[in-house]
Amino acid sequence: MKILVTGGAGYIGSVVAGELLQAGHQVVVFDNLSRGHRQAVPQKAELIVGDLADRAALDALFQSRAIDAVMHFAALIEAGESMKAPATFFRNNTANALTLLEAMLAAGVKRFVFSSTAALYGNPERTPIEEDDLLNPTNAYGESKLLVERMLAWFHRIHGLRYASLRYFNAAGASRPDQGEAHQPETHLLPRILNVALGRASNVNIFGTDYPTPDGTCVRDYIHVSDLSHAHLLALDALGLSEKDASENFQPLIYNLGNGQGFSVREVVDVARQVTGHAIPVIESPRREGDPAILIAGSGKIRRELGWQPRFPELKTIVESAWQWHRAHPDGYERIG
Ligand code: UDP
Repeated sequence: MKILVTGGAGYIGSVVAGELLQAGHQVVVFDNLSRGHRQAVPQKAELIVGDLADRAALDALFQSRAIDAVMHFAALIEAGESMKAPATFFRNNTANALTLLEAMLAAGVKRFVFSSTAALYGNPERTPIEEDDLLNPTNAYGESKLLVERMLAWFHRIHGLRYASLRYFNAAGASRPDQGEAHQPETHLLPRILNVALGRASNVNIFGTDYPTPDGTCVRDYIHVSDLSHAHLLALDALGLSEKDASENFQPLIYNLGNGQGFSVREVVDVARQVTGHAIPVIESPRREGDPAILIAGSGKIRRELGWQPRFPELKTIVESAWQWHRAHPDGYERIG
């Protein structure tokens, strides 16, 4: 199959692009390189540098290449940033997804895998969170993705779109020592902690120590990027690869992706101290706007329905893989040819 991977130069999209190629698929990456890195795109993938707001570019792409399915990773992802510039998020994440969906449906492409997020749930009603729990984002990032999920449901109902929506909890770690997380600026907890261990920052801020959690800091469910990636291939298969497999009564595949275990910010710092041998000084700081206290995935649905099994559920393993990448590439992709 030929798969269009938007955002394939980014942290998760590039890992999935590599896994698709390994599984024997052809991959076309579409990325504007605003946040992604050309060097992260696997060599065997075709890279088209373009913007999802450019409908003509998308039409040309679908006309010239026989795309069988789309995996849509391209998005802005920082919850904190979304609370300062919500319109940018609705433009990039919501409006651009609509343009992509219109273009693919016009070209007759009906298989779609969407990068969704735990941010859809906001402050959850219960822990662990199940897929049919209330969707009530506490930040504009989550809302920008929820709006896409709502559109997908209508396009399924009206146009027969076959889609999977994978609600990521906290993606972390590296799939290989030469492919990893490199956001600019970096806002995510684990890379920021490891930056301190590398001597690039003198301390890490803990955003909020007065949450209703055992140690007062936010609790998150960290999932290894390779386990996350593998779920995408399972979801793609489950969409029905050929028209013959495409049963009439297909129901959208909506899954949480996490390990079902939560770690506080302080616990992540502690594990990183063990892994790196660095003291990693912390500064207790005010809360970051829009952050829910606890996000832990109930991921029984994807385990039951698609047979997904995380291979690297241990936080220590996740941190070790991230440390390998960051130690070897302290400047991210900047210095890689
Ligand atoms: N966090 C922190 N210091 C940082 C970055 C993040 O205390 O420098 C906290 C953040 O408030 C959240 C958790 O770490 O509770 C995970 O944040 P991240 O941005 O990595 O992912 P998110 O949960 O926002 O998707």
